[in-house]
Amino acid sequence: SGYHRVLEENRKLYNQVQDLKGSIRVYCRVRPFLSERSSYVSTVEHIEDGNITISTPSKYGKGCKSFTFNKVFGQSVTQAEVFSDMQPLIRSVLDGYNVCIFAYGQTGSGKTYTMVGPKDLTEKNQGVNYRALGDLFVLAEKRKDNFRYDVAVQMIEIYNEQVRDLLVIDGSNKRLEIHNSSQTGLNVPDASLMPVSSTSDVIDLMNLGQRNRAVGATALNDRSSRSHSCLTVHVQGKDLTSGTILRGCMHLVDLAGSERVNKSEVTGGRLKEAQHINKSLSALGDVIASLAQKNTHVPYRNSKLTQLLQDSLGGQAKTLMFVHISPEPDALAETISTLKFAERVATVELGAAQVNK
Ligand code: ADP
Repeated sequence: SGYHRVLEENRKLYNQVQDLKGSIRVYCRVRPFLSERSSYVSTVEHIEDGNITISTPSKYGKGCKSFTFNKVFGQSVTQAEVFSDMQPLIRSVLDGYNVCIFAYGQTGSGKTYTMVGPKDLTEKNQGVNYRALGDLFVLAEKRKDNFRYDVAVQMIEIYNEQVRDLLVIDGSNKRLEIHNSSQTGLNVPDASLMPVSSTSDVIDLMNLGQRNRAVGATALNDRSSRSHSCLTVHVQGKDLTSGTILRGCMHLVDLAGSERVNKSEVTGGRLKEAQHINKSLSALGDVIASLAQKNTHVPYRNSKLTQLLQDSLGGQAKTLMFVHISPEPDALAETISTLKFAERVATVELGAAQVNK
């Protein structure tokens, strides 16, 4: 009957949410070949459920290596399909959970494509950021008889351990500090906080953020690949019957490229950038490892990135690490190193030791 169907649906949703709590989920996505390189042979041998097998030819012969994650998305998987898998996680923000989704991988592996979309953005190829907010508005509307939701966003960039507001209109370039204020729930209180209530609000702000992000980038110095960008969604929900207020927060992070830069190849500013990126990505790895061991001291303060994400990693927060790989043979070394890092993260069970404010 209809009643039983509703019960069954609720039970399923509840299980999905329980399933996500207190552990880090890891997804992997393989981007398709870019048209000019379609004659290459893919290093991805096989994908089945959560398994991916990479062929690792060497001078000693043909080898294979397999990795297991919560989900693996092949080249033909659409933006809509990827989003629909993440939907229960994203929707839980309206129930007061803290969520953190970060895109990891070498430059050119498709991180921005997943989170934002391609350059020629259409409704069909929009990435997670747009879809997530659009979906929150739809769900908030459905619940409007019982809840009133206010949604506001911040967008910042971390470049060389400096935090910059991406939603400024006057192009000002003030350096921002990260606090961990449990009073306001805002980690970067001085970054612009913009209320949003429709998908067109979101499109306007994303455009502003993208424009500000491009400032300082030149053709040779594509800064976006060497900075972390973070869209933070703050949700406040009021239960209209009881008056109870719920707060949820979601960080959607497009990390800097994870490629290891060979120290002998770069000097000066480029080397400094590389060192900052390595430092923050390894700080992220250290925080995850420390949460896994249920240490009482978690080294959040070692980088701006981990300071920013502090309340969305660990405890009751739900974290999804979304790793991206390129299928080309010349990316093989980075592909293997990305998958090994992801596999270490996938084994992490977060303890409840961290208190979530
Ligand atoms: P990253 O952010 O990791 O540096 P990008 O997202 O910029 O990488 O992707 C590199 C190129 O590949 C872009 O031109 C992008 O549009 C394209 N691309 C990435 N992933 C996909 C995909 N799943 N389907 C189609 N094109 C993609």
